[in-house]
Amino acid sequence: MAPAGRPAAAGRIEHMDMPYMDKRSPLVSIVVPCFNEEETIAETHRRLDALATERPGERFEFLFVNDGSRDRTLELLRGIAASDRRVRVVSFARNFGHQLAVTAGIDHARGDAVVLIDADLQDPPEVVKEMIDRWKDGYEVVYGVRTDRPGESRFKLLTAHFFYRLLNWLSDTPIPLDTGDFRLMDRTVADVLRAMPERDRFVRGLVSWVGFRQLALPYRRAERYAGSTKYPLRKMLRFASDGMVSFSVKPLKLAMMTGLASAVVASLGILWVLGARLLTDAWVVPGWSATIIAILFLGGMQLLCTGILGEYIGRIYMQAKGRPLYVVGEVIGPGSNAAADDIAERK
Ligand code: UDP
Ligand code: MG
Repeated sequence: MAPAGRPAAAGRIEHMDMPYMDKRSPLVSIVVPCFNEEETIAETHRRLDALATERPGERFEFLFVNDGSRDRTLELLRGIAASDRRVRVVSFARNFGHQLAVTAGIDHARGDAVVLIDADLQDPPEVVKEMIDRWKDGYEVVYGVRTDRPGESRFKLLTAHFFYRLLNWLSDTPIPLDTGDFRLMDRTVADVLRAMPERDRFVRGLVSWVGFRQLALPYRRAERYAGSTKYPLRKMLRFASDGMVSFSVKPLKLAMMTGLASAVVASLGILWVLGARLLTDAWVVPGWSATIIAILFLGGMQLLCTGILGEYIGRIYMQAKGRPLYVVGEVIGPGSNAAADDIAERK
């Protein structure tokens, strides 16, 4: 079955045509987004290899998505792919961001289950074993919930704490608290995600939206193995606004409510001014500060509300252009010809 709403690209591997999941030896795709991860990538591959060795009951595919790294990541990935047949590398033409790297991974994965994991080993590969077990119990999604996040700055912990709570309050779909993209999803869920054409992707929210049986799996997050975070404040803010704007129109409603509230206050003010002018002769020119406060407050509110409108309109504009979500420059590894036909097909 081709994903609804989008014609199947030539050469695209149609998972649904395959005999559905061989329960004895299912294929598990592990998707690893990488951006400037030269210091960690070899160790990540080693840990994934160790995981595969411990699980003879499953077959594995390691899908590294190189998100336009500017260091030696791609070169190292080439070496890894040459030495390990289970490895495929999808390399972007430039940096498109973590969420799109994950999206490309889901698009290219062939497994009966798809696991998303960070390259920096903050999400321990060993937890994947348990995810697979729970999946075999019948859950379509098993998502990791962080009970502990050592090695993160106070600022990051605090902002993340409030962000997930605010997001949940805003969102019409409940999105689990303290959950990253570290998760396992069944082929059915991956196929639904592949059929979603939306641009500003907040993958963890999209997976919650899909539904099915979802299970929370608590785990301790580790420290980054090496290197530094690839999420500077700018990317974090963009990510947070994607989450909020893509999952809710409440900010628009809030803008309307504050508009209404200030209109009510303004009409009371007008009545009061008129009353004072007409009924009393005590009217001199005090009230300069009240005027300035009103002007500043209303001006601020208007700008804020226009800004909120702009956020949505900008996204509608970008979506309307219908550009591909990402551009693949190169696919390395087994079956890469079929996958190469997929270049820039993803709309
Ligand atoms: N990443 C990516 N593209 C980017 C930024 C990050 O593919 O533009 C990858 C990165 O290589 C890592 C994952 O996304 O595998 C999470 O990034 P990071 O560990 O830097 O974020 P943090 O854990 O600090 O939030
Ligand atoms: Mg990290």
